[in-house]
Amino acid sequence: MPRKKPTMSRRDFVKTAASAGVAAPLMALGSALPANDANASEHPTQKTVPKRPFGKTGEMVPILSLGGVLKESDLLVFRQAFKLGVTYWDTADSYGWGKNEKAIGKYFAKFPDDRRQIFLVTKAATSDPEKLTEALNRSLLRMNTSYIDLYFIHYVGNVEKELTNDVKAWVDKAKAEGKIRFFGFSAHKNMEESMMAAAKLGWIDGIMMSYNYRLMVKDEMKRAVEACVTAGIGLTAMKTQAAFTANFYASIGSETDDALEMTDNFMRKGYTTEQAKLKVVWENPNIASICSAMPNMTILQANVAAALKETTLSQGDRQRLRRFAELTAPGYCAGCANICEPTVGCPVPISDILRYSMYHHGYGDRDTASRLFNQLPEAVKKNIMHADFRQAEKKCPQQIQIAKLLKEAVRDLA
Ligand code: SF4
Repeated sequence: MPRKKPTMSRRDFVKTAASAGVAAPLMALGSALPANDANASEHPTQKTVPKRPFGKTGEMVPILSLGGVLKESDLLVFRQAFKLGVTYWDTADSYGWGKNEKAIGKYFAKFPDDRRQIFLVTKAATSDPEKLTEALNRSLLRMNTSYIDLYFIHYVGNVEKELTNDVKAWVDKAKAEGKIRFFGFSAHKNMEESMMAAAKLGWIDGIMMSYNYRLMVKDEMKRAVEACVTAGIGLTAMKTQAAFTANFYASIGSETDDALEMTDNFMRKGYTTEQAKLKVVWENPNIASICSAMPNMTILQANVAAALKETTLSQGDRQRLRRFAELTAPGYCAGCANICEPTVGCPVPISDILRYSMYHHGYGDRDTASRLFNQLPEAVKKNIMHADFRQAEKKCPQQIQIAKLLKEAVRDLA
């Protein structure tokens, strides 16, 4: 018989844990460092997020990176992140239509001395050297800085096609001009292939890729991480929560007995399930950092608390996460676009569209989902309605109902 569904989200948990006496170590952080304490850095006992080496760059980066879209009015979140040691900040020229970069620029204008302590990442979704120069100059201007620590080409899905010799020449020039210190790319699909190819190139400093409790157990991903480590490429994990592509999967997943037991088990140990999903990624020492969207102080403090907590997950904890991943596989697109997309017979970026759907249903960010979806060519949108996805569904290792979910994406996002 199904047990009563726990109704506590991460946010609810953090709010109520103090009064319930749960997770004392996690809550200690919040009580030690009030959100509006302007002199927090003067607290001698305040712990900061630990650091790890970032590939062969010689840089040490905090294991937690501030991602997502913050606005100029969120200056306090940036400030608190800085004080807690979350000094790896990730953005992109497209985030919030440039609002995120402008907010960082406002922060640096107010706290110019902090700039040299921040490991700053931004990205542009192009391989055209002229457009890269335009985007980089715009990002520098918006962020009130003369250099970017790590510059990414965003959404790389095919290294051979996108990281050309022209791009390498552009990278060498930008480094020589002192505009970027390191270079790499982000990968949301075909991550393993891109990582293997990048390891052979010899001029990639860092990669940010989808990596979580679902993906990290796959042999292809283990091999790809190993190849990058050997090549001295610094790795940042993103999409660590492995959010669902559609609402109904979230409810199926959370109502199973296994999922309920997993949640209860983590709660007893002072974790939320979300925190446990971060911990399991950090347990791989080859992952330098996790980039996490932290849109408010509550989530920032919960993530920092998880980073500071030294307890490791047990074998049972890992098994529970693995079981949950198996049970809910059809709700998560693993980004293996090379498997499904060639079977369709016409261009349909299945994994991209499922990712937009995840932004909508998993993150509740319909604006971003809709903006990205509506950048697709009209011909592609028509293909979604008429293409035959039966082969794609047959080959999909996650057994996703591709045709159904893509049509729902058209309905929800067009
Ligand atoms: S739909 Fe399936 S095969 Fe296609 S990218 Fe997603 S998980 Fe891979």
